[in-house]
Amino acid sequence: MALRQVRVDGDDILRKKCKEVKEVTERTRILIDDMFETMYETNGVGLAAPQVGILKRIVVIDVDYETPLVLINPVIIEKSGEQTGDEGCLSIPGKVATVTRPFHVVCRCFNENMEEIEIEGEGLLARAICHELDHLEGILYKDVADGPLRDVQYDEDEEDEE
Ligand code: ZN
Repeated sequence: MALRQVRVDGDDILRKKCKEVKEVTERTRILIDDMFETMYETNGVGLAAPQVGILKRIVVIDVDYETPLVLINPVIIEKSGEQTGDEGCLSIPGKVATVTRPFHVVCRCFNENMEEIEIEGEGLLARAICHELDHLEGILYKDVADGPLRDVQYDEDEEDEE
């Protein structure tokens, strides 16, 4: 496993639409392992492939650091409710903004064995799924935020970054 460089806002690659994954190769598995390592190292709860410079529809998420999820070619098939709260992003370091997201989502995707699965999420997991799927379309959370980016207040509890 290896750490990958996280692309930051201003890098064109974050604004491109990602391509569907047709098959999981050894290279894909290495990418997924590297994405998890990079996410944990940077204290994130989610990471999308374009954030490490790869334009493929692959996302990793682990909101409690006990439930690693791999989402390949993910699509949200159900959403309900609403939650409004602060959100951050490893590609926009040191910033947060308020974003309104569905409270509950169901996501259909493939796992690392290309088996079709459904992932149901509430609260932070639903937020992370929405945030990471936006990355696959070249959308950053600041585009959909309710207000401007603010500096993270480091004297308070650390924010989750996705
Ligand atoms: Zn992000």
